[in-house]
Order: sequence, then structure tokens, then C-alpha cells
Amino acid sequence: MNGLVDLLRETGYALVSIGKGMGVTLVNLFRPKQTVSYPYQELVVPPNYRGALNFKEDLCIVCELCEKACPVPGTVTPKTIEIIWHIGQSKKRELDEFYIDYGSCINCYLCVDACPVDALVPGASYEIARIDPLAQYDRSRMIFGKRQLGVMPESSEVGSYEHAYEHVPLKRDLQPLLDEEPVADEESAPAAQAARTPAATT
Ligand code: SF4
Ligand code: SF4
Repeated sequence: MNGLVDLLRETGYALVSIGKGMGVTLVNLFRPKQTVSYPYQELVVPPNYRGALNFKEDLCIVCELCEKACPVPGTVTPKTIEIIWHIGQSKKRELDEFYIDYGSCINCYLCVDACPVDALVPGASYEIARIDPLAQYDRSRMIFGKRQLGVMPESSEVGSYEHAYEHVPLKRDLQPLLDEEPVADEESAPAAQAARTPAATT
């Protein structure tokens, strides 16, 4: 008799457990889908989103504070940020190239905090592979120069708290970036040149 009672109790527990599980499944069946149909859709991000940085060359005073503040070594360079400059005719520093290595950047934004002129600002991009389709095969291609960083969408411009994480059709055209090669001329970009050698490829 006791055996039959135990069997009925265990069967009841099992049915209740299955019912709870199926209830969760049913509720989620009628919720809006969370999966983004990437790359045909993109996510709206909030304005404080920390994506790939936007760099404003016209504001940069080549002080190198961002490079000094960066806590992470690059994949092929001493720092994740590398700045190449020369002394111009006005005896001031002039920027040749500005690199961020997205193979090692941790988006800590210490460089943003260090910049005294807001030349580095939060970016909304989370799709580096779309800007350079080969980036996913070669880590050295994730070193972005000033031209690429200059067109990264800014979080404050494209972000929205009201519509954060909504799915929207892709609307930005980054094709011009894909058509341009190389990122910088080889003489002014030794780090990127070194990074693009087969030995640096991982
Ligand atoms: S976000 Fe952090 S890791 Fe990336 S470049 Fe700036 S300081 Fe370096
Ligand atoms: S801290 Fe700002 S101004 Fe100074 S080199 Fe970096 S980006 Fe340019």
C-alpha cells in the first residue's frame, strides 16, 4: 500500500514539475523575440553604451595621455593605443596615425577619461567584423586607424534610453569603408605594418 502511495506522490511531483516547465515555455512563446536577425537587423543601444571608440582627429592635441592611461598591452604593440606623430613646422606635435587595437581593447574607457579635449568619445559600434569583414579571421586586422575610428557611430548620437535594445533594420552604410584600403600609408604606420605580417597573425 505504501508503495502505491509513494508511486502516486512521485507521479504527482513529476506532473507538477512538467507543468511548471511547460508554463515557462508557453509564456515565452508569446513574448517578443529577443534574437536579433543579424546582420539584417541591429540593436538600438543606450547612450552610455561602451562600444568601439569614436576618435576626433581635429580635436586631438597629441598629448598621449590616453596612451599612458591605457592599462592593456596590445597584441603586437606595448599599448592597446599607439600614437604616431612628428614635430611640425610650427614646432608642435602633429598626428600621423592613431591606432586602437581591438584585439586587446577591453573597453574600460580609461583613455576617454584621460583625454582632456574629448577627442575620444564612447562609441555605439559592436560590429567590428562588419567594418572589416576579414577581421574575424586575422587579429591584426582589428587594429583600427584614425580614419576608421573617426567614422565609428557615437553612443550619444545614435543611442536611446527609450528604445534601448529594440531591433531595427540595418540603416548605416559602411560600404565606403570596405572599399578603402589600406588604413594608412606604410611609412607612417609601422605598427600596423608589423601587425599585418604573417608572423603576427594568430
Ligand atoms: S578602452 Fe581601455 S583598453 Fe581600450 S584603448 Fe581605451 S584605455 Fe585602452
Ligand atoms: S588624450 Fe585625447 S588629445 Fe591626447 S592624444 Fe589621446 S585622444 Fe589625443
